[in-house]
This record gives sequence, C-alpha cells and structure tokens, in this order.
Amino acid sequence: MCKRNKVTDSRPFRDEQTFDLKHVLKGIDPNIPLVFVSGNHDIGNAPTTDTISEFCKSWGDDYFSFWAGGVLYLVLNSQFFQDASNCIELEQAHDLWLNNQLAAAEQLKCKHVIVFQHIPLFLQSPDEENNYFNLEKSKRLDLLQRFEKAGVKAIFSGHYHRNAGGMFNNLEMVVTSAIGCQLGEDKHGVRVVVVTEEKIHHKYISLDELSDLTVKEVISGLFEVNVLNPCLE
Ligand SMILES: [Zn+2]
Repeated sequence: MCKRNKVTDSRPFRDEQTFDLKHVLKGIDPNIPLVFVSGNHDIGNAPTTDTISEFCKSWGDDYFSFWAGGVLYLVLNSQFFQDASNCIELEQAHDLWLNNQLAAAEQLKCKHVIVFQHIPLFLQSPDEENNYFNLEKSKRLDLLQRFEKAGVKAIFSGHYHRNAGGMFNNLEMVVTSAIGCQLGEDKHGVRVVVVTEEKIHHKYISLDELSDLTVKEVISGLFEVNVLNPCLE
C-alpha cells in the first residue's frame, strides 16, 4: 500500500504550472513528438501512487519504451531507484518491466539502446561517492551492469542543473544542464542529440547560440553525418 505524500512544496502552484507549460509547449511544431521523463519535481523525492497518477494524468505514462529510426529508447522513472518506500508495488512493477525490456533488447541485439531517466547514475565517475545528485552506489552499479549487458550505449539525465558525465566501459552517462535554473556556470540551453548508424553524437547548445540558427543548421554544422534520428533532449 502506498501512503499519501505529505511533502510537495510546489503543489499549491501545480495546476497553474501545468497549464503554463502546456500552453508554451503548444508553440512547438506538431511534427516533433514530445516525450516526457518524470523527475523529483514532478512526483516527489519519495513518490506515492497519488503523485505518480497525477503526473500520468497530465503528461502520460511515467515509464515506457519506444522505437525511432531503428533505435530502442527506454524512458525510466528514476525516483523508484532513489526512494520507493511509499510505493513498493509500483517500484516492483517498474523493475519487472525494465528486466523484460532489457532482456528483449539483449535478444534483439539492437544497434543502439538509449535510456532516459531524470537522476544520473553518476556525475563523473561510476565509483564516485553518493550525493544528492547521483544514485546510491550499489543501485548504480547494479543498473550499470544490467544496462551494459543489454547493450545500452548511453543514458541521458538531468537533475544536476549542470553539464557533466563520464563513461562506464563503453556506456556513456550524459548529464545535461537545465533550460531554466542553472546551479553552475552553464548557460540556459538544450542538448542536441544525433544518432547515426555508428555513433550517438551530442552537444549542449545555449539558447543564445540557438536563437540565430535552426536546429537543422546546428545539426548539419556540427555533424557531417547521415542523420537517422535527431532529437532534442
Ligand atoms: Zn531533479
């Protein structure tokens, strides 16, 4: 059974925030599919069935997978990895689903498997100490090993409000700063990701840089490659 969440300091403003964000997102070209990844400001540091179902009502499933351009993408609810004490059954269902997805990816021998999750597994190094912005060490290593076995090539995360990242063998951890509040020296921006047959290319671009260029121009200028599947994180 899940307990009601007592803490959600942003909740008094939630309806207005949801309304505003949906209004802004209407300005995006409808040909660009939008994919949402839930995080602690959406469902709480220790989510409950209530906070998760509220998110799902506004933004769709809190975890799912999809294919684009022959690439398998797994969108995870990483709050379960941090603190599932208020929703053990949902966390177990998520883990079972993840196991099935990873087993299928391994069996299909996908060229690329890419994970999106809000909290980074690590910020610089797989064996760094635990802190607020990464996942606890044993959970982190368990996931890294499972992802690697399934052929995951990259994990894209946020949460840190700074750009960061590192490698676990051939698996890249990419941490992207925010379009809004910055906690470091980065400028407000987005990460442009280009997936080709051979490689996953990515670069953080500030909104200042983007204002003079279209995303297409950014991509063609950055990567002289055949673009299979460009997407904005
Ligand atoms: Zn966060």
